[in-house]
Amino acid sequence: MAAVEAGERLQPRDALRLWQSAPDEALRELAMQVRKRWHAPDECTYLIMRIVNYTNVCVAQCDYCAFYRLPGQSGGYVLEREAVFAKVDDLLARGGDLAGFNGGFNPYLPLDFYCDLFQSLRERYGQKLEFYALTIAEFLYLADRAGLSLAAAAERLAQAGVRWITGGGAEILTESFRARHSKFKYSVAEFFAAQRAILQAGLHTTATMVIGLDESIEERIEHLDRVRRFQDETAGLASFLCWTYLPDHTALGGTRIEPREYLRHLALCRIYLDNLPRLRTSVLTQNENALHGLAWGADDFDLPLEDEVTQMAGARIEPELDSLLRQARKLGFKPRYRKVAGLSA
Ligand code: SF4
Repeated sequence: MAAVEAGERLQPRDALRLWQSAPDEALRELAMQVRKRWHAPDECTYLIMRIVNYTNVCVAQCDYCAFYRLPGQSGGYVLEREAVFAKVDDLLARGGDLAGFNGGFNPYLPLDFYCDLFQSLRERYGQKLEFYALTIAEFLYLADRAGLSLAAAAERLAQAGVRWITGGGAEILTESFRARHSKFKYSVAEFFAAQRAILQAGLHTTATMVIGLDESIEERIEHLDRVRRFQDETAGLASFLCWTYLPDHTALGGTRIEPREYLRHLALCRIYLDNLPRLRTSVLTQNENALHGLAWGADDFDLPLEDEVTQMAGARIEPELDSLLRQARKLGFKPRYRKVAGLSA
C-alpha cells in the first residue's frame, strides 16, 4: 500500500481492506517496512521473565479463563511471601530480571497486602529485579475495593516501590466484548482512565491484546484504534503485546487460531500502531511460531519460565531457553537481552 510506504496512517477502513484482501507476503513486507522505522531488519530483543500468580481466587468469572477459583471454592490459594521469593530467586538464577505479578480479583486481599508485598520485593532485591506489579484490571479492582480514587491508589503503589502496571486485562477493548465475557471486568472508559492515572502518577505501562476468542475483525481494529489514540495522547505506552486465546478447560471453549492468522495479525498491528516502537510477539502462547513473528513486524519477545493462567488453558513452556534463541538466529535475527532491572523505564 503506497500510502503506508509513504508514512501515512492506516485508517480503520483501510485496515479492514488490508486484512481481507492483502496476500500474506504483501502484508508481511509492509509490516517489515514499518518495523524498519525503529529497528534494523536483523535486530531483536528478548527478556527472560516469570509470571508469579500469587492468587487464583477471583470474582470476575471471565468465561475464557481456566485459572480462577471462586472465593471458598476448593483449589483456591494465596502464595506465602517465601514462595514468592523462591520463584523470584529461581528467575534470577536462570538469568532473568523481570517478574510479572498476576492474580485474580481476590476480595480477601486488601491494598495493604499488595503494598507490603511490593515493598518487600524492593527491599530484598534492590536493582537486581524489576517487576510488573499488577495489570490494569487488577489495579481497577484494588482501587475500587479500597474506596480510593485511581490517582490515590496509583500514588499508594508508587510509594510502595511499584514502577510498572501493565496493560493486561485488556483482551479486546470494546464494550460489547467485555459485556459478553465477564461479569465484572470494567468498561473500556474505566480501563483507559486507570491507565491515564498510572501514567500521571509517574509509573510505566504497556498495551496488550488477546485474539482468537469470538471477536470480529472490526473489534480487533477498534481495539488497535483505541490504543493508537491513547498513545497519541499520552506517548506513555512502552510496548504492545498480543497473545492468543487458549481454550483448554475454559467455560467458553473453542479452538486455537491458526499460526498464520497470528502472524497476519501481528503484521496488521505493526502497520496500524505507527506510534509504538516496540511490538512484542508471544512465545508463551505461540511457542516457535512467535519467533516467525519477528519477520512479520515484531521486534521483541519473552522467554517465559512460568505463567499458570495460560498454562491452565493449554500453554506449553519450553524448558530449553537456548533452543528458542537458536531458532531466532536460524531465522536470521540477532537476539539481544533487553535488561529491565535497574532502569527507570
Ligand atoms: S482472566 Fe483474570 S479477572 Fe478474569 S477470571 Fe481469570 S483471573 Fe479473574
